[in-house]
Amino acid sequence: MKIVGITGGIGSGKSTIARYFNERYYVPVYYADKEAKTLMNTDALRGQIINLLGDKAYINNTLDRKYIASKVFKDSKLLEQLNKIVHPAVGAHFEKWCDAQEAPYVLKEAAILFENGTQSLCDFVILVTAPEDIRIQRILERDQTSIEEIKNRIDKQWDDFKKIPLADFVIENIDLEISKKRVSEIHLQLLAAPINT
Ligand code: ATP
Repeated sequence: MKIVGITGGIGSGKSTIARYFNERYYVPVYYADKEAKTLMNTDALRGQIINLLGDKAYINNTLDRKYIASKVFKDSKLLEQLNKIVHPAVGAHFEKWCDAQEAPYVLKEAAILFENGTQSLCDFVILVTAPEDIRIQRILERDQTSIEEIKNRIDKQWDDFKKIPLADFVIENIDLEISKKRVSEIHLQLLAAPINT
């Protein structure tokens, strides 16, 4: 089974595109960021995260994402240590999930892929792009957030010009109908492709 990463900056529409692969072609999708949050709320990781970041990392046993973000985003060493706890857990969970899938390929959706080298665990990578002003507008409409917060998150991700040459497929997701046609083309290519080693 081929493993296909699908990534893109905040608001590019990678979740929307991944969902379409699933709805139209029944491709199984693993939403890595969502699974990471779930795993961080399990007993297995909670203790390790409290050891690293202190009791304030959880409120009533639930991850306090704002507190964690405030700690790790100004301290890259701490972020690295947190990633060392979370990434292996997500990796193991993803492997187990893959074992349960029966499909020619699966999608692993993650906001950060090239930035942390996990594209090396994928046979192919699809990059979803959209102009920054459109991405910001989409997030402002989707979330209760500010332009400043969105820009902070954009600053932590690589620019598209750096990611495009590394991707096997690019979907410029502006008009959703055009993106859907691109998904159909990519789906056929992925079905036909040998494993990309
Ligand atoms: P994040 O990194 O924040 O999770 P994302 O890249 O997964 O974002 P989505 O959640 O898929 O992005 O999309 C962000 C918002 O933009 C959603 O409200 C979605 O419905 C909308 N959207 C996605 N693609 C398009 C499109 N082509 N045209 C209009 N709206 C879109």
